[in-house]
Amino acid sequence: MSGLRLDVITLAPEAFTPLLSLGVIGRAFTAGIAELHTHNPRDHASDRYRKVDDEPYGGGAGMVLKPEPVFAALEALPQLPRRRVLLMSPQGQPLRQADLRRWATSHDQLVFLCGHYEGFDERIRSLADEEVSIGDFVLTGGELPAMVIINGVVRLLPGTVGTAACLEEESHSQLLLEHPHYTRPAEFRGMAVPEVLRSGDHGAIARWRAEQQQQRTRERRPDLWQRWQESQG
Ligand code: SAH
Repeated sequence: MSGLRLDVITLAPEAFTPLLSLGVIGRAFTAGIAELHTHNPRDHASDRYRKVDDEPYGGGAGMVLKPEPVFAALEALPQLPRRRVLLMSPQGQPLRQADLRRWATSHDQLVFLCGHYEGFDERIRSLADEEVSIGDFVLTGGELPAMVIINGVVRLLPGTVGTAACLEEESHSQLLLEHPHYTRPAEFRGMAVPEVLRSGDHGAIARWRAEQQQQRTRERRPDLWQRWQESQG
């Protein structure tokens, strides 16, 4: 079985090199669980200046990514049967854990289109299956958002991190935030580990953790808390 194929169309391919040496994610690439390919629209620019951006029609600040080199870069890619094209955009749907799970399990190829400058020519949108935002803020390019998604997807692929159970229990996989963790020492600078965790009573520990999850979610993320309560009927 071959790994998940990731293709990134970016004017800054060098930005992705650190991913390959990033702990568990880096090892997943070495192990062939995923493979990363970058493609520069500049290599597909047809004019002799290799121009990839231009002034906006109608005037205004900044430069706009031209459609031709981006279309050409995408059309030059091999296409696997279950490919998904993701456009990085602050106007996209806000990223959620459920999206990462969907892309990790239902697709064999993910293509990332990274915008730059003021943005991209509107016609580039027609290439995308989905537009994705990593939050309500604006960055200078789509490279960090693409790396965020690649990190989150690759860690869900079988073989990248520990057990399936540890992926099940974590924050956002079931709407509730995860319970707190402690390790030795039992007391540190006057801060003690809750007694129940040292009791050896597995039932009591499970109850304490469930309570903590609910309490934390209620306090920190009323929006998730409400969705969780609705999901409980
Ligand atoms: N002027 C545009 C923003 C351009 S930011 C607007 O107001 O919509 C430049 C590029 O960075 C975008 O094309 C996109 O690819 C990327 N980008 C910036 N912020 C992002 C975010 N929150 N999520 C995903 N991509 C983002």
